[in-house]
Amino acid sequence: MRYISTRGGVEPILFSQAVMMGLATDGGLLLPETIPSVAAATLKQWAGLEFIPLALEVVSLFVGEGDIPRQDLDRLLRKAFSTFSHPEITPVVRVGGHHVLELFHGPTLAFKDVALQLLGNLFEYLLQRDGGRINILGATSGDTGSAAIHGVRGKGGMEIFILHPHGRVSPIQERQMTTVLDANVHNIAIQGTFDDGQAIVKALFNDLDFKGKYHLGAVNSINWARIVAQVVYYFYAWGRISEGDPERQVEFSVPTGNFGDVFAGYVAKRMGLPTGKLLLATNRNDILSRFFSSGSYRLGQVHPTMSPSMDIQVSSNFERYLYYLLQENPEGVREKMAELDGGGGFAVSREIIDAAGDFQAVSIGEEQTLAAIRSVYQDCGYVLDPHSAVGFAAAMARPGMVCLATAHPAKFGDAVNKAIGRQPNRPAVFEGLEQKPRRCQVLPANVSAVRDFITSRLD
Ligand SMILES: *Cc1c(COP(=O)(O)O)cnc(C)c1O
Repeated sequence: MRYISTRGGVEPILFSQAVMMGLATDGGLLLPETIPSVAAATLKQWAGLEFIPLALEVVSLFVGEGDIPRQDLDRLLRKAFSTFSHPEITPVVRVGGHHVLELFHGPTLAFKDVALQLLGNLFEYLLQRDGGRINILGATSGDTGSAAIHGVRGKGGMEIFILHPHGRVSPIQERQMTTVLDANVHNIAIQGTFDDGQAIVKALFNDLDFKGKYHLGAVNSINWARIVAQVVYYFYAWGRISEGDPERQVEFSVPTGNFGDVFAGYVAKRMGLPTGKLLLATNRNDILSRFFSSGSYRLGQVHPTMSPSMDIQVSSNFERYLYYLLQENPEGVREKMAELDGGGGFAVSREIIDAAGDFQAVSIGEEQTLAAIRSVYQDCGYVLDPHSAVGFAAAMARPGMVCLATAHPAKFGDAVNKAIGRQPNRPAVFEGLEQKPRRCQVLPANVSAVRDFITSRLD
């Protein structure tokens, strides 16, 4: 299996090289040259597998035996998912007439753990095998930073520096990051906003001398390994519900921000997963639902909502889908992305989008989100977090669907409380979090303070 860029400027590379490259060197995103297809007989067999053996089958198709031997991959997967608290890793539970695919049993209680636990172990394995170091630098408003920290804590060959806005992330999120005391984890609380943190990170990445000298890498939401890890649970959920009958279609509703989760569903579908259109649910930041209804992809303002991990302006993984929509034509992708950079938008004709027929997109407002949390709680006694509730609300009238649950409700207790009048139960991993020792460096919001701190830790 070889990987190419959506923009056509990368010679085919191996999976391991794609993992270390992250963003393609030509500015595009990496994709497999061909998406493997899965025969009906294989699907039937996969339906009987538990999560880790299934993950081994799925991920192997994208890796190649000569690149990472199967037994190494098996070991990596076992290690990655040993941090999950549920024996099934991503269980499917019945909620009224729907199925909920619970993706939040990892260490930070959000679905990003599924991918980042694997990515951290892959980095460690590849650095050990091929030599080198990586120092991960990122800014977070909460969720991604903690999942990344838990993905690489204690791992060899890498340090991680995560900036968060001092006093402006929720107390739970702050503690999920700062109570990780492994020597390779460096939390920095910036005396400023999330945007200040992001600007500082960007400035440091643009300082190419600094970036090169200190082997800076990003916590990329666009790393191909993250997509592959997420493909697994679509097949897993199908297996639980279909009992292995390849004729049995199962439909998915996916709360969406950066298009990574739902793109994994699209890859699964192209591989042969029996499913129809994927239901793509956004909050009121609706650039994607506007695209699928009008063909126009145009940047707007970011509106803060109670599902903050979906408050995005540009969906960083969308370029991967655009590549397929434009008949795998890198020239076409380059043109569209140049238009986006130049004038804030581009368009694809409705005929092309409708002919592909891959997604149905819905935007769900704040009131609808609260109403979904409330009615699911009243009718079924099940508590959704506000992100999962966006996907559930979109699927409300279509029983039988699988709704992806992307965060544990306790991570967003205030929104839940607003909907149902009580805080969600606290999961075991939150017990004693307040009392745990913390480590965090508070710094003024300027580039040189952060640069000095990083060099002081690495020199
Ligand atoms: C990141 C995130 C999402 C959105 O996933 P994308 O892959 O960015 O579409 C949804 N819910 C939660 C809780 C998240 O952390």
